[in-house]
Amino acid sequence: MRELEERIRRDGIVEDGEVLKVDSFLNHQMDVQLFAAMGKEWARLFAGEGVNKILTIEASGIGIACVAAQQFGAPVVFAKKSRTKNIAGDVYHVKVASFTHGRVSDVIVSKRFLLPSDRLLLIDDFLANGAALEGLIALAEQAGATVVGAGIAIEKAFQPGGERIRAKGVRVESLARVKSMEGGHIEFC
Ligand code: 5GP
Repeated sequence: MRELEERIRRDGIVEDGEVLKVDSFLNHQMDVQLFAAMGKEWARLFAGEGVNKILTIEASGIGIACVAAQQFGAPVVFAKKSRTKNIAGDVYHVKVASFTHGRVSDVIVSKRFLLPSDRLLLIDDFLANGAALEGLIALAEQAGATVVGAGIAIEKAFQPGGERIRAKGVRVESLARVKSMEGGHIEFC
């Protein structure tokens, strides 16, 4: 998506070679008009797939998912990073290793909000090693829900996540695919 690529080129900052900072428009200050254009693009790509619910993970996927959900006329469920040690029986639960924070989180969704009849679109801001998306897929599997696909804002295609998730047979639609960020210079696929 040209608009997103241009914005990344203009405002993205490469940190430590592998981390792209986009907090001026995506995951701290949020350009909601840009999110609307992204939502329209996913709605076009997944038209006719019968998406009835969006599933994302806190925190930075939530804003993007909410704006996209308006295009689908669907609710958003966000998987929560649980801070309690005792995970109660009324939730689906998975462990997810965080790319940016380097720790493992217990991630949960109430069983009330994921149903076998659901056709889910998974949304997240980044795809790097694929742990976050794999966690969401595992939660959907526990519920017996169908994963229609994943809408990702920025895929870092030089990391293995995209290949791993596509190898599972999950359709991944990334609106910007970064091929490399060497020397702070961002190149798209
Ligand atoms: P993965 O689980 O695919 O390794 O990483 C995805 C998660 O890590 C995303 O939810 C996102 O929050 C975070 N993340 C991964 N790479 C980046 C990055 O380059 N920049 C930022 N800001 N977040 C990232």
